[in-house]
Amino acid sequence: MKTLEDVRALDAADPLRDFRDRFDLPDGVIYLDGNSLGARPKTAAARMADVVEREWGQDLIRSWNTNHWMDMPRRLGGKVAPLIGAKPEEVVVADSTSINIFKALSACIELQPERSVILSETGNFPTNVYMMQGLAAASGGRVEHRLVATEDLVDALDETVAALLITQAHYKTGYLHDMQAITRAAQDKGVLVIWDLCHSAGALPIDLNACNADFAVGCGYKYLNGGPGAPAFIFVAERHQDRVMPVLSGWLGHARPFDFSDIYEPAPGIDRFRCSSPSILAMASLECGLDIFADTQMTHIRTKSVALCDLFIEQVEARLAGHGFTLASPRDAAIRGSQVSFTHEHGYPIVQALIDRGVIGDYRDPGIMRFGFTPLYVSHEDVWRAVEILQDIMATQAWDKPHFHARAAVT
Ligand SMILES: *Cc1c(COP(=O)(O)O)cnc(C)c1O
Repeated sequence: MKTLEDVRALDAADPLRDFRDRFDLPDGVIYLDGNSLGARPKTAAARMADVVEREWGQDLIRSWNTNHWMDMPRRLGGKVAPLIGAKPEEVVVADSTSINIFKALSACIELQPERSVILSETGNFPTNVYMMQGLAAASGGRVEHRLVATEDLVDALDETVAALLITQAHYKTGYLHDMQAITRAAQDKGVLVIWDLCHSAGALPIDLNACNADFAVGCGYKYLNGGPGAPAFIFVAERHQDRVMPVLSGWLGHARPFDFSDIYEPAPGIDRFRCSSPSILAMASLECGLDIFADTQMTHIRTKSVALCDLFIEQVEARLAGHGFTLASPRDAAIRGSQVSFTHEHGYPIVQALIDRGVIGDYRDPGIMRFGFTPLYVSHEDVWRAVEILQDIMATQAWDKPHFHARAAVT
């Protein structure tokens, strides 16, 4: 088992150690929830103040041109692209993940007129499943949504399936799907694949084009550190872009929005997957998060992420043996994202007690304590200290207080 000296040596040799200074984190907080809401880049406050004061306050509507507001969806898309193995002209930052899921699903249905099923796994993130249900309900019987257990996914791929919607890293367990193998298995059966990268973009290297991916969506506010409710992104492989007539045919996906025509004519390429006016304030803060990635490589991030997760598992299992914690994430790092979950029958109050002591993780039913490890701002020593605090909370039964049992609206 590693000692405090060991973990300090790991931090001293860490190529990412200086990145922590690029984030504002409160003193005394060990932040293990970057998989839910990334920390704030230090540049974000000044950048947003500038957008508010100067661009919006002084330049007003001229900013769409003079401050390049209208270009932001594509400019930011171009900054997401290298993180996910896409070309800049295959990614646009727009709308939300839920909306982008709907766009991708409806595109697949259109591209596969002789197929009717949209497929996903049971226990996928709820909005993904709900968007499937909504699309099926609105289709008047044309589309059927189907959920199968993870281990049955490949067998469920047949000639009735138009699209497989699959989340690369599971939000509860961090289980990581093999993108290459699943994409190939699906495409062998003529199925288009939509990868949801919410829990993997910015957390590990992704190479959509090496896997010949069709569509992908992902979140701006998790590992990309874009701020609460930051806009999402959508990737559409170049070969599909001009074959899709968007169902969510918003005016900013029009070829010439400022013609104000009565007739919708989709823009060429990825721009047709835009829908609404971009949220400029939110885009400005997301860009601060994205710019940090330009100064490092995803391979460094992945190497450290694996080390942090392995260290956490080692420390919890050694120092809290006999306290009722069961690993709910894969032990094998090759099939694990950048988070570690443990189940415990008192998971909810234990997480609240940890938060009270400055160790911020979160909780998902049933009994799942989730800890996200964000290599840009979490150190090995943070992991070591988090487990030390957990050990103290368990030894003193500090978690068993009435106010730690009361459920908040957001867990
Ligand atoms: C976080 C997350 C979302 C979020 O969707 P929003 O539209 O941003 O609320 C969707 N899918 C998955 C898998 C997620 O992890």
